[in-house]
Amino acid sequence: MTFISSKIWSGTITCSMIAIVAAPLSAQQKTSTANPRPEETEVWTPVPAIVTPGVTDAVAPSDAIVLFDGRNLDEWVSARDKSPAKWVVANGVVTVNKPSGDIQTRRSFSNYQLHIEWRVPADITGTGQERGNSGVFLATTPVGGYELQIVDSYNNKTYVNGQAASVYKEYAPLVNAMRKPGDWQTYDVIWTAPTFKGDGSLATPAYVTAFHNGVLVQNHVALTGVTKNEGTPDYHKHGPAPILLQAHGDKSAPISFRNIWARVL
Ligand code: MG
Repeated sequence: MTFISSKIWSGTITCSMIAIVAAPLSAQQKTSTANPRPEETEVWTPVPAIVTPGVTDAVAPSDAIVLFDGRNLDEWVSARDKSPAKWVVANGVVTVNKPSGDIQTRRSFSNYQLHIEWRVPADITGTGQERGNSGVFLATTPVGGYELQIVDSYNNKTYVNGQAASVYKEYAPLVNAMRKPGDWQTYDVIWTAPTFKGDGSLATPAYVTAFHNGVLVQNHVALTGVTKNEGTPDYHKHGPAPILLQAHGDKSAPISFRNIWARVL
């Protein structure tokens, strides 16, 4: 072991050195296992960032991106042509303008936490999917999106993987937590974006956890691809993507939204 005593050593670590260094640690580990101290499992850094929560869930935490606070649609554009969003803002609420089509965020997101509130009109008409249909596409891409369904599911029967809080045509909600038409509903969502390999194939699927009115309705479900009304979902490589709100073509009165914010994860 002559090289250890050298003043300047830039050689390679040898197996015998590792053995010498490792031996005392093994002894210490044995001692710790036999007689552990609380300090050995305390972690002090990194310290989590301080976030000031809103006074209610409707108010964005201090680190959130406010997507709609009742004043304007500056954070949104028309999905059709990326022109300024033309849905109707009044009294702190934005209401779907069906002829102008879907709207989407100007920003693109990967993983995030989303809070959004929505209301089906008290005088809603129609049945099944034709009753207050809208949706939150958790990511919208040129090759498809992933829809968390919005529709009136208060005493309104439809296929269960298409009712409110379903991941449309992929996962029915765990329970129906719907409030009656005219009442505000909340979605709180954790979105984990899918990842892709260099060749475009899927590396890890998208995951959704969602609460409807504070009730868990999707528990870290792994999506099988982009939402399809006909056929089975599939994946196509994409990167960060906008969030989209659906202007559905049903004949019922348009629904409204308020208090929309997201936290990048
Ligand atoms: Mg929909």
